[in-house]
Amino acid sequence: MEKQRELDLQFMAQALELAAEATKKGNEPFGAVLVKDNQVVMTGENHIHTESDPTYHAELGLIRQYCSEHKIMNLSEYTLYTSCEPCCMCSGAMVWSQLGRMVYSLSHDELAEIAGFNIMLGSGEIFAKSPFKPEVTHGVLKEKAMLIYTQYFQPTT
Ligand SMILES: [Zn+2]
Repeated sequence: MEKQRELDLQFMAQALELAAEATKKGNEPFGAVLVKDNQVVMTGENHIHTESDPTYHAELGLIRQYCSEHKIMNLSEYTLYTSCEPCCMCSGAMVWSQLGRMVYSLSHDELAEIAGFNIMLGSGEIFAKSPFKPEVTHGVLKEKAMLIYTQYFQPTT
């Protein structure tokens, strides 16, 4: 249990670094890390502006790329770490890929409060009505995530 907590902190720190990196490239501050057997197998970040693709969220992009490259349809043995609770679209992608575990930092409601907007549908609502759902851990490194999002969405403060 203690070991898992340490690994969660380590992988979330990486997801948050990716989130901060994404903004330097002109994208939005969202990062994700896919882990299997305690090893990072792929990382992803938001690409909506650089790819002119409003659906290119960190989580969705990573799931699509990883499954496509490895010709697999099932991520039940994987954990996905994401800087923020996934949106309804990315939560859907986690359902369809049968993701085993998902860890997020900032919650959907907390992001909405900072950003001033969001689709008001949390991942829990999607998972509750879905045939597959990952085990969820949340709030990992939340203070650090809050800083990143506040700097991005409220740059004057
Ligand atoms: Zn999303």
